[in-house]
Amino acid sequence: MIYGFDIGGTKIELVVFNQKSEVVYKKRVSTPKDSYEAFLDALAGLVLDADSELDCQRSIGLSMCGVIDSRSGMLLSANLPQLTGKRLVHDISERLGTNIVLDNDCKCFAYSEANGGAADGYETVFGAILGTGVGGGICHNGELVQGMSGQCGEWGHTQIAAMFTEKYGLPLFDCGCKPEARGCIEQYISGTGLSNIYKHVSGKDGKSEYIISAMRSGDEEALKAFDIFIDILAYSLVTFIHIVNPNAIVFGGGLSNVDELYEKLPGKLDEYLLSVIPAPVLLKPKFGDSSGVRGAALLAAK
Ligand SMILES: [Zn+2]
Repeated sequence: MIYGFDIGGTKIELVVFNQKSEVVYKKRVSTPKDSYEAFLDALAGLVLDADSELDCQRSIGLSMCGVIDSRSGMLLSANLPQLTGKRLVHDISERLGTNIVLDNDCKCFAYSEANGGAADGYETVFGAILGTGVGGGICHNGELVQGMSGQCGEWGHTQIAAMFTEKYGLPLFDCGCKPEARGCIEQYISGTGLSNIYKHVSGKDGKSEYIISAMRSGDEEALKAFDIFIDILAYSLVTFIHIVNPNAIVFGGGLSNVDELYEKLPGKLDEYLLSVIPAPVLLKPKFGDSSGVRGAALLAAK
């Protein structure tokens, strides 16, 4: 069996897969906020509960958002403050007496979709997450490309092209990634980013789900916000495509479910791509929200 953990700000979920990638067990608990020790206790407790029920040989993989230094295993910028600066893999491995694999959730997503998922069989795959934030992972021949410290594919904190601030009068939105950071692409092409653009266009607040629904009902401000979102997303992806030349891009996160994204993006990519560079195939994910935990489990099984 393969144990995959999805570690989020509000809950920790353990999903157990059999050799055919079928889910055979699931359990979730609230994420302890008090201390690092309580967090380790929760992880270990979930493993021991599953062990007693399943009584099997297993490997364990963890998927979580945040920056993980692959050289030291240290969490450099975790979404849970009590984990930042900790060597989670080392500590939980020691507690359970077994080796554990940990990787960033965006990379786990890319790995899952490139191995048995929507992008299976494509040589170079970019897994692009458009959720609350923006992140990504790159797979080549089914293997994750790590880079020097494990941050390959981290494109959310690159900058918006200057032409868009002129074209749409958009400000450089603040970003929390560094002190005084402004204009990170994550502030324009995530769910939060779509809300930022909608507010700029209409003066009104609205979550991405509301904006998509309003657009489908014919709301002109919502449609304009979505078209600006697509324009900026296309240009950002083209920069990436020119550097990496991927065969396929598979989208994850909440906005990957929006059909209009797949209808409008190809035309915009063609507008910005050099004519000698072919556009990659654009794919919806096969495993959706479960892809991160599935990727972690596959990495552990490997
Ligand atoms: Zn940023």
